[in-house]
Amino acid sequence: MSTGASSLPEIVSTLRASFDAGVTKPYAWRIRALKALRALLIERTAEIEAALVADLRKNPAEAQLTEIGFVIAELDYTISHLRRWLRPKRVRTPLLIAPATASVVKEPLGVVLVIAPWNYPVQLLLVPIIGAIAAGNAVVAKPSELAPATSAVFARLFPRYLDNRAITVVEGGVPETTELLAQRFDHIFYTGNGRVGRIVLEAAAKHLTPVTLELGGKSPAYIDDTVDLDVVAHRLAWGKFMNAGQTCVAPDYVLTTPALARRLEPLLVKVIEEFYGTDPELSDSYGRIVNDAQFERLTGLLDGETVVTGGQTNARTRYIAPTVLSSVSRDSAVMAEEIFGPLLPIVTVESLADAIGFINAGDKPLALYAFTSSAKARRALLTRTSSGAVSFNVPAAHLLVADLPFGGVGQSGTGSYHGERSVAVFSHDKAVLSKIMKPDTFNLVYPPFTRKKDAFIRGFLRRLT
Ligand code: NAD
Repeated sequence: MSTGASSLPEIVSTLRASFDAGVTKPYAWRIRALKALRALLIERTAEIEAALVADLRKNPAEAQLTEIGFVIAELDYTISHLRRWLRPKRVRTPLLIAPATASVVKEPLGVVLVIAPWNYPVQLLLVPIIGAIAAGNAVVAKPSELAPATSAVFARLFPRYLDNRAITVVEGGVPETTELLAQRFDHIFYTGNGRVGRIVLEAAAKHLTPVTLELGGKSPAYIDDTVDLDVVAHRLAWGKFMNAGQTCVAPDYVLTTPALARRLEPLLVKVIEEFYGTDPELSDSYGRIVNDAQFERLTGLLDGETVVTGGQTNARTRYIAPTVLSSVSRDSAVMAEEIFGPLLPIVTVESLADAIGFINAGDKPLALYAFTSSAKARRALLTRTSSGAVSFNVPAAHLLVADLPFGGVGQSGTGSYHGERSVAVFSHDKAVLSKIMKPDTFNLVYPPFTRKKDAFIRGFLRRLT
């Protein structure tokens, strides 16, 4: 199902015509569109919150923190800095071509496609779109069909708030996305899993379209004995169980020593009760699993594991209790792939070196969390592992820093965004050089290459640049 009666190629060619006509390029248009998006979020908060409850039983306060309010903060930051970010940047010119001026000018790419997943269906659709609009592009927004209520809200509200000539929502699943991917775009921004990431890259290759891939992976949480375990338990449980664990930057599993695991486990039990009560199924602060397929996959991962707390499930409501798993084997099913649900395995290690070895044996994670006050441990983790981000003593909060790049490395993604970087993602850095006509000092490099010029080029020139 797509928005309106137009076919997808028609939608894309309408947007291209608008882009080519210069609709999206003026600074005033960009600011107007960003402010309109802001108005949509403010005026339609109740509808969006209701959609998030319907899709994920997401608590409205959590929705403000991680979705609606998060996007408004990004909008405000972008609106107040955009003029400066778009300013051409002067760069130095070598003496050889002096007198001349050189600068880097940001140019919009054209028509861009933003494909979003279901887990943060507001933030992960809108934050990339902010960058695309701010950079002066026309946008096709493709929300996830697996968060249908949120997708429908944006399909309904975008045409009322935003300039239809240049910004369109296309709803749908695999067939629609496949057809969209056959079109030529000037950038594709995909957030989701690596399997589909490969499909997106293949489709983009046909048109030589640049791609940003925001993928996932198993983000470890390393804990040593230099930190207050009660605070660790609170922050871990917060990062893990928000959105019922369906967070790309959730701590996927814990790496710690057996002695610390024994101390941490009862603290996690206590914190989970503090957050969600004795029966989290009754808590309105706790979410649900997005669909039956994910529910089946996650409950299957519990087989054969030692449950410290949680483990209760309800297939009808797709409830899985916040669950902590003890002494999990490194080759168990729950350690094979990103969990993306409310299961927290604790894997024991002998030492920091053992933890680093284990992390490096897997794919590069989207984030690495380390709860440690040891400068030596921090340095070792920073320099001897690779991940999209490293965050000490708190999970998932690096997203809140707009000037930090948000993205993965290797299997966890390609490219990064947020703040000024989002504008860079959707812009071409055009090199602009301007040289005055006279005097024509350039004649020093024109043929014929006399002995004098040869000597100049070999010696003098290098010193002049
Ligand atoms: P999803 O199933 O909603 O898929 C994402 C998008 O891909 C959807 O819009 C969907 O329509 C489209 N899609 C699905 N199959 C397709 C196909 N065969 N061809 C073309 N398009 C297709 O979401 P998901 O992939 O289950 O999302 C979860 C994954 O996303 C996890 O791995 C998570 O770590 C990752 N993730 C990453 C980030 C990040 O910012 N790095 C954020 C959230 C989620």
